[in-house]
Amino acid sequence: MTDRSTQIASALAGVRERLARACADANRAPDAVQLLPVTKFFPVSDARILYDLGCREFGESRDQEASTKAADLAESISGERTFAADDVRWHMIGSVQRKKARSIVRWADVVHSVDSEPLIAALSRAAVAALDAGERAEPLQVLLQVSLDGDPKRGGVPVPELHRLCELAAAADGLTLGGLMAVPPLDADPDAAFATLAATHRDVVRDHPDARTLSAGMTADLEIAVRHGSTCVRVGTALLGSRPIASD
Ligand SMILES: *Cc1c(COP(=O)(O)O)cnc(C)c1O
Repeated sequence: MTDRSTQIASALAGVRERLARACADANRAPDAVQLLPVTKFFPVSDARILYDLGCREFGESRDQEASTKAADLAESISGERTFAADDVRWHMIGSVQRKKARSIVRWADVVHSVDSEPLIAALSRAAVAALDAGERAEPLQVLLQVSLDGDPKRGGVPVPELHRLCELAAAADGLTLGGLMAVPPLDADPDAAFATLAATHRDVVRDHPDARTLSAGMTADLEIAVRHGSTCVRVGTALLGSRPIASD
């Protein structure tokens, strides 16, 4: 093993232990929460190390970086340069520009950060085109990003509009509604924010029983998110270290 592999292996063991303890403390099954490694700003060699340690799903926040990395990882695993290796799933977790929809649907299995009607329409059109062209085999799973502070600048759907957008996403061709995602507001108590999110998710699941995913929790707050029902924690820093530059 290289120094970097040893470092990542030990970080991954540490995060898995944190997650197992958080599940135990919340009286939840140890496999109730998915660990989604976030590889943004890190090279494909790090994604390959995580792959060799058993990880099969990765989060990215920028279209161009992610599409290259997905193809590079597929090539390093199989020798073939395709949009993504067959046994790897990529998650778009960053804010999505509508004009990037056609590119994103080529590499992403899941988009966590869907927050407007025009974006739902753009992703739907793009996913249908990609399915027709044989560029993807499955509908695109979308999570609606919830705004927990109502600040439109930080992205996310305000809670009062969520019901209508869930209906739109669930009915859109080429998409499936997988659930909700949120990032707690800066300067807010994450415990209160995640409690609001959990209550909102319970309402959504009542109308959309398949929308079971609750994507919440990062390096700093994964224990709190797990206590409030997260089913997917998105972890970058605790696995790969600090990112070289500020990111969204
Ligand atoms: C970068 C990012 C993460 C990972 O955050 P860490 O604090 O490094 O674990 C999680 N979610 C989103 C939306 C991100 O952009």
